[in-house]
Amino acid sequence: MAAATLPPASSSAAAAAVRSLARAVPQRHQLLLHASRRGRGHRHPLPLTAVSPWRAHLRRALSVSASGGSNGAAPVSAEREYDYDLFTIGAGSGGMRASRAASALYGARAAVCEMPFATVASDALGGVGGTCVLRGCVPKKLLVYASNYSHEFEESRGFGWMYETDPKHDWRTLITNKNLELQRLVGIQTNTLKNSGVTMIEGRGKIVDPHTVCVDGKLYTAKNILVAVGGRPSKPNIPGIEHAIDSDAALDLPSRPEKIAIVGGGYIALEFAGIFNGLKSDVHVFIRQNKVLRGFDEEVRDFVAEQMSLRGVKFHIEQTPQAVTKSDDGSLSLKTNKETISGFSHVMFATGRKPNTKVDEYSRTSVDSIWAVEIAVPSAVFSQPPIGQVGLTEDKAIETYGDIDVYTSNFKPLRATLSGLPDRVFMKVIVCSKTNKVLGVHMCGEDAPEIIQGIAIAVKAGLTKQNFDSTIGVHPTTAEEIVTMRNPTRKVQRDTASEVC
Ligand SMILES: Cc1cc2nc3c(=O)[nH]c(=O)nc-3n(C[C@H](O)[C@H](O)[C@H](O)COP(=O)(O)OP(=O)(O)OC[C@H]3O[C@@H](n4cnc5c(N)ncnc54)[C@H](O)[C@@H]3O)c2cc1C
Repeated sequence: MAAATLPPASSSAAAAAVRSLARAVPQRHQLLLHASRRGRGHRHPLPLTAVSPWRAHLRRALSVSASGGSNGAAPVSAEREYDYDLFTIGAGSGGMRASRAASALYGARAAVCEMPFATVASDALGGVGGTCVLRGCVPKKLLVYASNYSHEFEESRGFGWMYETDPKHDWRTLITNKNLELQRLVGIQTNTLKNSGVTMIEGRGKIVDPHTVCVDGKLYTAKNILVAVGGRPSKPNIPGIEHAIDSDAALDLPSRPEKIAIVGGGYIALEFAGIFNGLKSDVHVFIRQNKVLRGFDEEVRDFVAEQMSLRGVKFHIEQTPQAVTKSDDGSLSLKTNKETISGFSHVMFATGRKPNTKVDEYSRTSVDSIWAVEIAVPSAVFSQPPIGQVGLTEDKAIETYGDIDVYTSNFKPLRATLSGLPDRVFMKVIVCSKTNKVLGVHMCGEDAPEIIQGIAIAVKAGLTKQNFDSTIGVHPTTAEEIVTMRNPTRKVQRDTASEVC
């Protein structure tokens, strides 16, 4: 076996690797971490949603593991030899980055195990790249691109384009090309790991003791074990749920849904609603609450639902699914607390994901839940129209800072003047009244995710509304509106401001 120790600064090196790792992982990436350590009774699956807590957890996870544990457990002998310094289970976004950083940046002997490639994940199948590359961000965005065309075809008529018949879409071409691209990406990701010096082991990993992982019957020892196994879609346990699909399956259907029920009001549900609506399916979205996108800015929540409705998505609010039934002709019905709607070719649940926590008794963490709010975390929803946001929502800004100035703009973009479509853009800038600092920017409309990425730099840098106002707008663009909102739409005052911006 190879020598046992990392370089002298192993813990801090691992922590530092993790810091760079944390920067690279998108906000919505949820990483379930378990620090391998001795002792019992600490099992905290940690679905982590923000960069800061994620970074903090992982930093602690690695340093705890590297030091051999605490909590009264005997320290791991410095003389003990291991096959690897770091063994990572799962080569998704988190596992890939951790292994690469440990190996390439800090010279650690790193290995990662991952299950064979499949478009739909299971207990035995996954693939290098994980959810983001194979069943999340990437394939989803490819389908969003595909579905955007129908709106553009509609827009084009106002600009003089004439079609005898509407363009037809071939679902099979889309899915075939998407899957070829995914296979190409798996190859690239695998090579990236190898080029970084990480040993890639194919198979399902299982922790057998605090320093040993079993992959398909073969044992590997490691000083540190990082479990980065992500999660899988979960569906509620209601009658007929076996007839429903999840997001994995929805990205790889053999044919386009004619009429689809999408259960859920989160970003995945809205993104798929946009995809299928754009590809001309009849789309019904069922949400338990009275609004989509809990946690987003209230005005954005209203605006996106209204715009999606104008594009043809039907929302069924305050409805809890109770059963799915299949008729003799194969069509599906969805029964909720309020109604039963029939004739669906597909019923999809986008109601959450559950962590892949099927690891053995040693896979438990003492990692404290250190949650912190990072003020400038940008994120996007690739709905149609899409959303981009950075910083605080209006409610959160009032709660945190008290007095704020809110600038909003709701306008018809230039493109919609000739297209004749009811498309609009909504923008909102939230400013601290006392310091003039921009606390949040929210946008729903064409190119919002692209625009917000640039704005995020300014918000993260703590720039003021004055800085925004003194910036010359690029004309004619949609984004110029962000630097030309001169008068607040409203000033919100709250007496008990709790923090200084
Ligand atoms: C439909 C959808 C759309 C999304 N869109 C976006 C987006 O636009 N932007 C964004 O930032 N995020 C998006 N996300 C979220 C993002 O994909 C995840 O947050 C991210 O992939 C999580 O990374 P991870 O490394 O924690 O887990 P994963 O990527 O899930 O990786 C875990 C890996 O571990 C493997 N594994 C599990 N168990 C074992 C085992 N026992 N042995 C070996 N390997 C194992 C799995 O096969 C998997 O490859 C989306 C997610 C979904 C589902």
